[in-house]
Amino acid sequence: LEIIFLGTSAGTPTKTRNVSATAIRHTNAKSWCLVDCGEGTQHQILHTDLSLAQLKVIFITHVHGDHCYGLPGLLASASLTGRKNPLIVVAPYAVQEMFECVQRNSDLTLSYDICFLKPQDLTDNAELGGFTIETVELSHRVQCFAYIFTEKTPYARLNREKLAKDCIPAGPSWGKLERGEDVALECGRIAKAKEYLLPAARARKIIIAGDNDTPELLRKSCKHADVLVHEATYTQEVSDKVGALPQHCSAKKLAIFAESVMLPNLVLNHFSARYQEHGEHTFDDLKNEALAEYRGNLLLAKDFSNFRLNVGGLLNLNENTKKS
Ligand SMILES: [Zn+2]
Repeated sequence: LEIIFLGTSAGTPTKTRNVSATAIRHTNAKSWCLVDCGEGTQHQILHTDLSLAQLKVIFITHVHGDHCYGLPGLLASASLTGRKNPLIVVAPYAVQEMFECVQRNSDLTLSYDICFLKPQDLTDNAELGGFTIETVELSHRVQCFAYIFTEKTPYARLNREKLAKDCIPAGPSWGKLERGEDVALECGRIAKAKEYLLPAARARKIIIAGDNDTPELLRKSCKHADVLVHEATYTQEVSDKVGALPQHCSAKKLAIFAESVMLPNLVLNHFSARYQEHGEHTFDDLKNEALAEYRGNLLLAKDFSNFRLNVGGLLNLNENTKKS
């Protein structure tokens, strides 16, 4: 599984970071899903190998502008470049109203259908964009959600080595065995499916959360999760100065929570524009604060960083996906 960050700044963009947008896809798949769509997301996409024609589902966490002002432009461009397939947008109702208002007042006709769904209306284990999706309502100034992506439970795999050893040639019998059916071989022997199937790999789970001052709300979901992508807008010191009103999370608070649920991989994201590589407030401040509390695999998102989750459940930085 791959997570590609298209915008990692909170509130306003900076010269090196755009506002919120994150892509998720199966490794090497063409189809993909987008979580949040801050202004300029479509420009960021142009620098990657992601294509608007292959976008399956857009998930919006909440209606704040840095998470959804890019939606009308992106949807319009998908139409202008000839998209025909319907697109699902999962978003709080306020986002749908915002989009429909822009559409009505800007003479926007789309070449494809949009189906809006509310996060709270998704049924248990809804299947969207190649994943099983769950949602958790978070604590922010407006209704806000986390989206949980679980691989559809993979099939049991055929033990090809044993098939070859027992001289069972590829063909319809392999399909039957894969479906769990026993097969009568030409020699008269019965090949039992359970003897030729390897156990299915574990379904991996990635949580991409919107703005949230209470990571504790994700405790249950984090129990079997491989990755949590969560905002760490401020260090604790800055958060204390700013006060509780914006309802954001500090790196420290998030890291304490992640350690308490023994989360294997934590990605910090959505940084206040005051943080820079050098100067009074740096990304290292956020990183060091989290490292003091969390002993798992910690990563900080940058625009265009591509994090790959391997089958063993470890998240690693992949080569930079930014094209020139
Ligand atoms: Zn935000």
